[in-house]
Amino acid sequence: MDATANTVTSTLAAVRSVLGEASRTIALHEPEFGGREWDYVKECIDTGWVSSVGAFVDRFENDLRACTGASHAVATSNGTAALHICLLMAGVQPGDEVLMPALTFIATANAVSYAGAVPHFVDSETRSLGVDAQALNTYLGDIVELREGASFNRRTGARLRALVVMHVFGHPCDLDALADVAARWNLVLIEDAAESLGASYKGRHTGNVGRVSALSFNGNKVVTTGGGGAVLTNDASLGQRAKHLTTTARVPHRWSFLHDEVGYNYRLPNLNAALGCAQLEQLSSFVERKRALAERYAAAFESVAGIEFLREPAQTRSNYWLNAIVLAPEQADTRDALLAALNDAGYMSRPLWTLMHHLPMYAACPRAPLPVAESLETRVVNLPSSARLGA
Ligand SMILES: *Cc1c(COP(=O)(O)O)cnc(C)c1O
Repeated sequence: MDATANTVTSTLAAVRSVLGEASRTIALHEPEFGGREWDYVKECIDTGWVSSVGAFVDRFENDLRACTGASHAVATSNGTAALHICLLMAGVQPGDEVLMPALTFIATANAVSYAGAVPHFVDSETRSLGVDAQALNTYLGDIVELREGASFNRRTGARLRALVVMHVFGHPCDLDALADVAARWNLVLIEDAAESLGASYKGRHTGNVGRVSALSFNGNKVVTTGGGGAVLTNDASLGQRAKHLTTTARVPHRWSFLHDEVGYNYRLPNLNAALGCAQLEQLSSFVERKRALAERYAAAFESVAGIEFLREPAQTRSNYWLNAIVLAPEQADTRDALLAALNDAGYMSRPLWTLMHHLPMYAACPRAPLPVAESLETRVVNLPSSARLGA
């Protein structure tokens, strides 16, 4: 057997030992509705409160505060909208550049575009797959021109306003080091915590280090509202502003329609919030079972040569949103054969997202050297990760 066939065979055996035979396709990540979802959604329909205000929206925001420890949470129509609001609250202006990883889901870059700013891509590291703080610091040393307490890109002349970091697959990135780099270069730190609900860094829930953070409750995330998101912050005035901006910037009044700026209709409907309340009640059960599943994958892959199962970084507790294996560089050529074999056998598997600068609309954006992200792009494979598989 050649090396490729060998890797494919041993990977299939490892996945089979964890998941059993797939009589029908085992999805990458499917939602689970085993709690009070029906009761809460029915309550919306019975009372007529299905739309953009209602008791479940308030309750969902309260529950989010309780589970993340953030002092303010504002529910939004989806995670991309939450990120857009985060960028506006960070003071991002049209023409600014926003540093962000090339290795992320498209929503991060699109939100920067919606704010009229330009994504500026930076490299990632192999432990968390998040932004590499040290490489970023060195890079900024090369390109930044400091003027009156602000950082400018000396090549483009644009202001470098913010740094968005992302917790890839629920593995917290190195927030302390990244916060230091952001402070040193006058950048507002934003966490794209869309994938990391239930995950913590040094004992603190993700989303509390950035000035503002975004969550997502899309159908494939750890907890779903169908579609939805939230802005988190520990700054009271930003919390109020997030609520205002996401609710058409309406000034409270008994009957008048007064709006004091261009706002957004980014509210989460009560129906979706009802689903979210029932889902949040199960968050710790979801995360525990996902972590148990990850342990079993980790054990199964210990004996597979040339493949590493991605573990949570030290001092973090991951939610293991999506389990991932990383092929050794000399095994990168095996990836497509591996994906074909896994999917053929009924184990839904996916490669890493195409890096942002490899997509047509972001190809011309400024970027740091991206050797790690470019290598990872060819070597990461996600495996089925639903909570039910860890039961
Ligand atoms: C899911 C996700 C989002 C938000 O997606 P929505 O579908 O708009 O809720 C943002 N960033 C990352 C990294 C994501 O994975």
